[in-house]
Amino acid sequence: MQVKCSLCGKVEEITKIHKDYAKLAKNQSAPYFCEYCSFRVKTQAKEAQFPPKPI
Ligand SMILES: [Zn+2]
Repeated sequence: MQVKCSLCGKVEEITKIHKDYAKLAKNQSAPYFCEYCSFRVKTQAKEAQFPPKPI
């Protein structure tokens, strides 16, 4: 199944073993993030949770 990354627009081919396959197969308009963008989103969420202490 071909999916398009919601952030960078990269088109990827995912198989049934992909964690979001069932969700995307059911709802083709569900947001999909490629490996790179999901890593970026995760990193940003982490940073938001633990903001750097002001000096
Ligand atoms: Zn992406």
